[in-house]
Amino acid sequence: MELYNPIIEKAMSLGGASRPRRYAYDPRDAWPDTGAFELVMLRDAAYELGGGSHSAVNFTCVTSSPRLIDRDEILVYGPDLGEIEGDCDYARIALLRVGEIESDDETDTEQAYRAIQDMDFVKYHVFPKGYMIRTSAESSREQVRISREAIREGVSFQRIGADFIRQYKKNSSVLNVKMLFITAPDGDYAGAGQLAKSVKDITLSLTKIMEGMPTDCGSCQLKPICDEVEGMKELHFGKEKHTGE
Ligand code: SF4
Repeated sequence: MELYNPIIEKAMSLGGASRPRRYAYDPRDAWPDTGAFELVMLRDAAYELGGGSHSAVNFTCVTSSPRLIDRDEILVYGPDLGEIEGDCDYARIALLRVGEIESDDETDTEQAYRAIQDMDFVKYHVFPKGYMIRTSAESSREQVRISREAIREGVSFQRIGADFIRQYKKNSSVLNVKMLFITAPDGDYAGAGQLAKSVKDITLSLTKIMEGMPTDCGSCQLKPICDEVEGMKELHFGKEKHTGE
């Protein structure tokens, strides 16, 4: 499962010039989770991450490489929740290492597809108290409204990240998770948006391959994506017989 490796490498440099604050994951740090959609009224809000015309990028990548993801960790690039004073640009990126995938190519495609779907689904099942997440699968936007009460009670990215990681790790194939939160004024939000689009393109290609699309690259509408993403053609031709470039 190395399709996303170049994206993961680029994601680590989106956070701007300053060094991130790093926190090891401890499930006991997880911010209280209500288990159901958390409504924060505008009148109770301190601010919104990605509110108004600000960037609000979210994507999830999966790898089997311990070189890229070797521990559970939360990285915060820019001001933390208690330091932010108003709506701001925001990106949340989840990087996951899953167990080695079997060598059979057909299984590889199916497992890659399922792992990505399962992992992306987690974002709809995290409900931190006083932290209203509004996400759009279409645009890769994730906007968050934070309540003043949560700020008073000491909410932080470390604790929100721990809630996400705890949820991801309910899936036994997830070995490690890195959660990146970016609010730095000099963060590369346009670059993050580009990477989010690449992730969507790869997932779209996997979906099409799973549906058994034709195997003539010369006439395939996904060729621009597969030309860009190392390993995509190998993944497809492991499943179907190739009939042309
Ligand atoms: S590998 Fe070729 S046929 Fe398969 S999705 Fe990519 S471009 Fe299309």
